[in-house]
Amino acid sequence: MVEEKVREAIRDIPDFPEKGIVFKDITPIMENPELSKEVIESLRLSLLDSKIDAIIGIESRGFLFGMPLALAMNVPFILMRKKGKLPYKTSSFKYDLEYGSAEIEVHKDSIKKGWNVLVHDDLLATGGTAAASAELVLREGGKVAGFSFLVNLTFLKGVKVLEKYSTNITSIVNY
Ligand code: AMP
Repeated sequence: MVEEKVREAIRDIPDFPEKGIVFKDITPIMENPELSKEVIESLRLSLLDSKIDAIIGIESRGFLFGMPLALAMNVPFILMRKKGKLPYKTSSFKYDLEYGSAEIEVHKDSIKKGWNVLVHDDLLATGGTAAASAELVLREGGKVAGFSFLVNLTFLKGVKVLEKYSTNITSIVNY
C-alpha cells in the first residue's frame, strides 16, 4: 500500500532545524520514481469527487508533488511563494508563527473569480501556512476546494485550523 511505502520512505531527522522538532524528510520519496508516481496517483484518486479548477503549491516542498498532481488532473498550477520571490504584481498575506511572522504571496492574476482551488503542501503541522494560503484564495475571489498533504502531524491539530475553509482535507500518512 502506498501509505506504508511512504511511511517507510520518510526519514525522521531529530532536532532539525531546531531542538525539539522531528523533521519529516521526504527526499527519499523523490529518489524513488515508482513511489513518486504512486504518491501522485494516490493524491489524484483522493480528489476524484472534488471539483478542482486549479492547484496552489506552497513554497517550496509543496511544488514537488503539486505540479505533477496538477498535470495529472489537467488543471493550472499556481505558486504560493515567500514574500519577494514572485516577479509580477502580487497579493500577500502576513501570518503569525510560533516565533515571529511570515508573509506569503501569489500573483494577482493567477486565481480567477469563482475558481475552486486546492491548496497542496508536503506536510500539515499547525496549519498556519495552509490557512494563510486559503485566506489569499478567498481574497482573490476563489473558493477553497480542499487541502491535500503527504503528511499530517495530527497531534498539532492543523485540521482544526483548516476546517473553517474546507473540510475536504486529505493526507497519505498520519502521525
Ligand atoms: P504549519 O504552518 O505549522 O502547518 O507548517 C507547515 C509547513 O512547515 C510546511 O510547509 C512544512 O513543509 C513545514 N514543516 C513544519 N513542520 C515540519 C516537520 N516536522 N517536518 C517537515 N516539515 C515541516
